[in-house]
Amino acid sequence: MAVDPGLCRRCAAGRSITSGRGSVFWRCAEHDRDPRLPKYPPLPVRRCPFFRPRAEADS
Ligand code: SF4
Repeated sequence: MAVDPGLCRRCAAGRSITSGRGSVFWRCAEHDRDPRLPKYPPLPVRRCPFFRPRAEADS
């Protein structure tokens, strides 16, 4: 079932990961810079002070 990641989908730090069983997780790359942020944020993320809009060319 598709997960609604909320802000992470449009965030430059959001990375979707599909497990071998088809589950989709969203990893927060911002965690690598600031470990206070969860590596796998509870979804959907509705508010995040670290949100940065992804550039159109990014995928
Ligand atoms: S910085 Fe916030 S909005 Fe962006 S990927 Fe991480 S948790 Fe999601």
